[in-house]
Amino acid sequence: MESQKTSEALKWSHPDAELYIPDGQPAEAALKRTTHLGIGAHPDDLEFMAWKGILDCRGNANQWFTGVTVTDGGGYARDAQSAKLSTEEICRIRRGEQNKAAALGEYGAMANLGFTSDEIKSRHPGIQEDLKQILRLAAPKTVFTHNPADKHDTHVALCVAVVEAIRALPAAERPEALYGCEVWRGLDWMPDEQKVAFDVSGEEKFMSSLMAVYASQLRGKRYDSATLGRKHANATYHTSHSSDRCNAMEYAMDLTPLIRNDRLSVQEYATGIVRKFEADVAARIAKYSH
Ligand SMILES: [Zn+2]
Repeated sequence: MESQKTSEALKWSHPDAELYIPDGQPAEAALKRTTHLGIGAHPDDLEFMAWKGILDCRGNANQWFTGVTVTDGGGYARDAQSAKLSTEEICRIRRGEQNKAAALGEYGAMANLGFTSDEIKSRHPGIQEDLKQILRLAAPKTVFTHNPADKHDTHVALCVAVVEAIRALPAAERPEALYGCEVWRGLDWMPDEQKVAFDVSGEEKFMSSLMAVYASQLRGKRYDSATLGRKHANATYHTSHSSDRCNAMEYAMDLTPLIRNDRLSVQEYATGIVRKFEADVAARIAKYSH
């Protein structure tokens, strides 16, 4: 697989960072065609949480998905086989899988930033620099990242970092929409009026093949079947009257208000949605209680 190392115009914070461009376009041109940007913490997050972005762009000459994976995946030895490997070897395998997914998914570009999970959680300033560089060059209309109610600390820390990086852009240069996607915690609980539901039916086979690229992750746990099952369940349980024509649905938390209003805190926004959920549960029980 051909891989394009950092070009003159692009400066990454981490020495191991790499921009992989499946169709071999020059780095800046590849980034500039971006319409949909997915920013995930680990190699595999994008393919599990951002089907909408990947599928909207695949086979579409006018729309391009750019992937950003912030960590090197080294902290995630999930089974005995990978436990025998050095961290360096695990990172190499996981980056290879991520780039293979980018090629199969016809991404416009794939940025592997090479940080550790701890560096995301300790707010390494280089992450802001790299994200801002990508956001400025790619100027995406739509951004997908983790949602702030996820139960994985690294995912939440990255969600906050993405909001901060977008807020560093002038208002006119910001994306039109920011979505927080499901990985380590589904978003079924969200009140429907704040939940974004993307119909991702029809490409389940393709997306399964894309998730299957992550052989190193799927040996220990079948994240691929679980993710497909979650999207089937979302489609069925979204509304009682929804038709069965939608077989796969991806939920996201609409985080756009956070990039429209810089004074709205991520915590206040997310817990406000949790309070709406609480009020919904309380009101329904109260109807049938004395
Ligand atoms: Zn992850």
